[in-house]
Amino acid sequence: MLPAGRRAFSALVRPSLLRDTTAATTLRSPAALRRLLSALAILEQREGKLNTGSLSAITAAKQLGGTIHGFVAGSNISAVAAESAKVAGVDKIIAVDSAAYDKGLPENYAPLLVANIKKGGYTHVIAGHTAFGKNLMPRVAALLDSQQISDITAIQDDKTFVRPIYAGNAIATVESSDAIKFITIRGTAFPAAAIGSGAATIEEGIDPKADTATTEWVSEDLAKSDRPDLATASRVVSGGRGLKSKEEFDRVMLPLADALGAAVGASRAAVDSGYADNSLQVGQTGKVVAPQLYMAVGISGAIQHLAGMKDSKVIAAINKDADAPIFQVADVGLVGDLFDKVPELTEKLGKA
Ligand code: FAD
Repeated sequence: MLPAGRRAFSALVRPSLLRDTTAATTLRSPAALRRLLSALAILEQREGKLNTGSLSAITAAKQLGGTIHGFVAGSNISAVAAESAKVAGVDKIIAVDSAAYDKGLPENYAPLLVANIKKGGYTHVIAGHTAFGKNLMPRVAALLDSQQISDITAIQDDKTFVRPIYAGNAIATVESSDAIKFITIRGTAFPAAAIGSGAATIEEGIDPKADTATTEWVSEDLAKSDRPDLATASRVVSGGRGLKSKEEFDRVMLPLADALGAAVGASRAAVDSGYADNSLQVGQTGKVVAPQLYMAVGISGAIQHLAGMKDSKVIAAINKDADAPIFQVADVGLVGDLFDKVPELTEKLGKA
């Protein structure tokens, strides 16, 4: 159940910088839309593996009804391009094979995209609302004198988009009259397009070979885990400040995650207290998840936490405080001491 206020508020926002109403919106036949609309989906890849958010960007592009091109760049890109070409409904994959784009540095990537967008004459450019998309898209939009629309959860028509604001407590309907609409999409709102029966053509894109002297990739420190990826897992168990310490977080939460085959998440209080890695934070300033099952353990249910998990299909909560706000959004709640209840649950799940 969502707080009543969240559903009640809906605003139509017309960003002041927008202009150039297109003729596309007055024509509705599929054939006309296909002629007038063309979307470029930015396909994010890391070491040859496509990010699921990119496949969600293709799903969003399909909802527009026009032609769809995918764009991918990096070294040895042919296998990723071939994989992307198999997504049904994609007309063309534009690929640029260069190590300069491996790390997705926006200083390098933005001029690359600008050149290819200008050549393709697209009406829409769509990326996942991932760290990569958030870093890149405003820069590209600004270079083309357009306004970017972030984190959309629905497409009403080719110029009207829905996005949560105020940590998900209000839903804004945003209308854009920019000639090119730059949007990032919330992955949990658009299912990933399947890689299967498509047969898109693959074309080499323009490589402007921008001067990369201002930015240099130094290193990265990645948290590695054998558990499911938090952003896309179908089950997530999250721990909060109620876990009391990192040792207890690991002792209580990890066996529960293993028993359920779940990804581990955490509240910001748990992250800030050093119980869990920053990459596990769920919420307004962390990851937004919408798994089949979200279990909140020792989490009070602050509004900023709810912003990252309230669209989960089933929410279960364990908390010793019967008045904790998490119970207002939970489908299943257990009032009790997590240090008793979670090990008991884990043991029963292990026997199931
Ligand atoms: P608490 O609020 O301290 O709750 C701990 C809970 O554990 C309590 O309900 C308590 O009853 C329960 N408990 C304690 N002991 C036990 C026990 N033995 N058994 C069972 N239950 C027990 N927070 C996020 O999570 N994600 C965000 O992205 C985020 N972004 C933020 C952005 C901004 C700008 C701001 C201002 C805040 C943000 N926060 C975010 C912080 C948020 O407001 C809360 O402070 C935070 O979510 C609280 O975490 P918690 O529920 O783990 O801790």
